[in-house]
Amino acid sequence: MEQPVMEQESSTIEHKIYDLHSHTNASDGQLTPEQLVERAIEMGVSVLAITDHDSTDGIAPAREYINQQNYELQLISGVEISTLWENIEIHIVGLNMDITHPALVTLLKSQSESRYIRGQEMGRRLAKSGIENAWEGACALADGGQVTRGHFAQFLINTGVASDFPKVFKKYLAKGKIGYVPPTWCTIEESIRAIQAAGGQAVIAHPARYGLSNKWLKRLVEHFKSVNGDAMEVAQCQQAPNERQYLAQLALEHSLKASLGSDFHRPCSWIELGRKMWLPADVTPVWQDWSQGIA
Ligand code: AMP
Ligand code: MN
Ligand code: MN
Ligand code: MN
Repeated sequence: MEQPVMEQESSTIEHKIYDLHSHTNASDGQLTPEQLVERAIEMGVSVLAITDHDSTDGIAPAREYINQQNYELQLISGVEISTLWENIEIHIVGLNMDITHPALVTLLKSQSESRYIRGQEMGRRLAKSGIENAWEGACALADGGQVTRGHFAQFLINTGVASDFPKVFKKYLAKGKIGYVPPTWCTIEESIRAIQAAGGQAVIAHPARYGLSNKWLKRLVEHFKSVNGDAMEVAQCQQAPNERQYLAQLALEHSLKASLGSDFHRPCSWIELGRKMWLPADVTPVWQDWSQGIA
């Protein structure tokens, strides 16, 4: 439940605001780790996971800043790993991991190489259709962070090729469009293994955003459970009516824990850190076994 910041101070654990999915400029988020921390504090978030695409580089600077400022915010080391399942791109969030664990570091390095190769090829394909320098432009916007389609989208908007994110994806970057390159991500199972080797929990990110029918969504959840997945995201700030309850039911049926997160990328009026971040009463929260001050 959303609570005014004043009441957070004396609240018990169930009144804390958790937001376990957010991005910094270590991938396609707009804010630096320090700015994201500031915003989480402003929004009254108590527990924040930074979950950049295939990168954990935002976490150390955020942690350092929290310590420097003496903030109460509990930071969870996270990541959002791109995977391929049945030729569909599925995002797996890892939470509460040792980000120095070799299995995780090795997997993220390989994912990062896949991003690099894919990005170059996207640049070549866009150039063939008359859009020059998209790879260089995307790299410049990523500024050393993971290069994502979000950066390509921003480049295409900045250069006047398209007017907004939904349009640029629909026309150039979505599956099957001229700038789309089939990726070579790891499997769901590989992502889970690396996350769990690093002591973390593996979570299906935004299950309702893959455009799957109920039958396919169930198949995904069954597969995830069969390869030892831990949890699925059940709550976001923007959801269709009944979606939260439907996802909670799926989690319960498959004995998965439940997570929640805004997937915050940049300040905008419809997605905010910590907003509407509550779980239905009957699910088991992914943080159930976390003790204070972990990783
Ligand atoms: P990538 O992991 O490089 O394929 O980039 C995926 C990212 O692009 C997602 O995490 C979103 O931030 C963004 N994205 C994907 N599809 C859309 C869309 N239709 N509209 C806006 N942003 C999108
Ligand atoms: Mn993104
Ligand atoms: Mn995602
Ligand atoms: Mn995300």
